[in-house]
Parts: sequence; C-alpha cells; structure tokens
Amino acid sequence: MLAGIMNTARASLVALLLGAILMNHPQSTSADHDSEAPVAIVIHGGAGTIRRGDLDADKEAQLRATLEESVRAGHAILLEGGTSLDAVMAAVVILEDSPLFNAGRGAVFNAQGGHELDASLMEGAGRQAGAVASVEGVRNPILLAHKVMTDSPHVMLMGEGAEEFARLHDIVFEPPEWFDTEFRRQQLERIRERDPNAHAVSESPDEWLSTVGAVALDQHGNLAAATSTGGTTNKRWGRVGDSPIIGAGTFADNRSCAVSATGTGEYFIRATVAKDICARVQYLQKPLAEAVGDVIHGELVEMGGDGGVIAMDPAGNIVMDFNTEGMYRAAIAADGSLSVEIYRDGEGSK
Ligand code: ASP
Repeated sequence: MLAGIMNTARASLVALLLGAILMNHPQSTSADHDSEAPVAIVIHGGAGTIRRGDLDADKEAQLRATLEESVRAGHAILLEGGTSLDAVMAAVVILEDSPLFNAGRGAVFNAQGGHELDASLMEGAGRQAGAVASVEGVRNPILLAHKVMTDSPHVMLMGEGAEEFARLHDIVFEPPEWFDTEFRRQQLERIRERDPNAHAVSESPDEWLSTVGAVALDQHGNLAAATSTGGTTNKRWGRVGDSPIIGAGTFADNRSCAVSATGTGEYFIRATVAKDICARVQYLQKPLAEAVGDVIHGELVEMGGDGGVIAMDPAGNIVMDFNTEGMYRAAIAADGSLSVEIYRDGEGSK
C-alpha cells in the first residue's frame, strides 16, 4: 500500500521534473524533426563485482525495473522529437531519485559521513558541457550541471559556489536524511573495518560501483552524454572522481561518439577514458566497439583501472562494455528493442 503511494508520488515528481525540462527547452517538442531518423538510448547504473547470487531476487527485480523505467523515460522524449540532452537528463533524474544507485538519493557516504555529489553532461553538436563537483544537498545534480551549461559562462562549478548558484536558479535541495540509506551506511562501516583509509576497493563486492549515466542519439542526429555519482565510499572530503570531468567520465561529439563511464575514477581521469575512446573513433577511424575495447580492456587494465562505459556513435550503434564482473545497464536500440542486463553473461554490446 505504502509502496504504491510512494510509487505514485515518485511518478508525479518525475513527470513534474520532465515537464520542467521540456518547458525550458521548447525546441524539444518542435515538429521540425525527422521522425524516420534513428533514435537510441543506453544507460548504466555502475560497474563492479556483481555476480549472480550476490543480489537477492527482490533487489534484482527492483534494479531491473528502475533501469527499465529510466531508459524508457529517455526514449519517450526521443520518440517525441526531443533532444538527446533532454533524454539523458530525464533518464539520469530517475536513477538519481532511486535509493538503489550511487547518485543523488542513493549516494555513498564519504569519510566524514556526508554525501558529496558529482555530475556532468555534454552535447555533441556544439560541444557544450556543464558539470558540478562536491555539491551537497542537491537532489538532482545532473539538472544543476545542465544549469551551469545553460546559465553560466563556465563549464564546472564546485562546492559552496555551485550550491549558491543552484539556489539562485531554483534547483531543488533535500535535507541530509534524504541521502542517508542504511545500505550505504553498512557499506561505509564494512570498508572502514577492513581499512579506515580505503575508498575504492574494487576487489570487494559493491563498495564502489553504481554511478549512473546515459547516452542518447536524437532525431536531429545529435548525441549527448550524462553521468552522476556520489563517488567512492569513504572517499576523502573534497575528493573528486572522473564523473564530473569532461573527457574522463563524460564526453560527446557528433564527429565521433558519446560516452559515460563508471569505475575507479582516479584511473579514468588519468586515462581520459571518454575522450580517448572518441579520439580513437575520430582519428583512427576505429569502429566504436573496437575503440571501447582498446581502452577498457587495454589501456585501463594496464594502468590497473576497473570499470566500464556505455557509448554510442552517430549511427546509433550502442556499446556497453566493462572489465569487471558486471555492469547495471539497459538500452533501447535504433530498432526499438529493449535490453536490461546486469551480469557479464548478459548481452555485452549490440
Ligand atoms: N567513477 C566514480 C568515481 O570515481 C565511481 C563509480 O563509477 O562508481 O567517483
């Protein structure tokens, strides 16, 4: 009963947020789109040590349902002729509002017991981008990153300056309790028991995975990418990972591809993962899947980095690839087919 009411309340809020996104972007609903042009969207909810049997059936069902809700919300915008930027934001807002993923509401705890949120987005036509780092209390950091892109001359704002900017632009804040989930608190305690200084412990299940992201192609032929995260459990106060860094966790360029990453951020920053993949497509003329594979299973592994990416090229080809045991992921391809996968033995790319 309560769950039903919560779902209805959540659905109304998502509708409200999506309404606000579309109102702010009248071009989203314009009729000047080519309804025959392919549209596609792919999302992720983080990569890591996710093995069959690690998740109970109920949690797995909830994860799959939320992934599907997110990818469908973004796809609906694309079908109406909306922009890929609006589609990726809509998909990410749903994942940020879910307590299941390490972004927005379900963000991990830092070493001080707080939640510092990072997010970024980029569009591939004009290569405009927006990002926020280490913000607290912001319900949907991806919407704030978008505001930075549209309403400031900057690409990235951080900390208190970003929060002040958010208040000036009517971005929604939530009290600290909104972001406190028992599951994440237990993760913090477990990691501290093992090693008080550890933060990204990739060999232990679920300690760092589940950043969220989305990549889409719209009917106008434009790509966009978005990524949002709480970072790594027990991270040092002020630590910033790859997710808000354009070129590392997020990148979009219509001349090559769009990418959203998840994994051990320190490595993704040094390997400039998202940009490196797109550069290989653009300069080496590599097919997207090969470019992704070279970075995720080559460069990154050689450096010691763990994780994965979702990526798309201007033809709507989708790649979901990772060097970990699993990655929460879902896609609606150009032919309209839906896939929702968690484990490695699911569909890797299509
Ligand atoms: N890449 C994120 C970070 O390092 C973590 C993740 O993807 O789970 O902040």
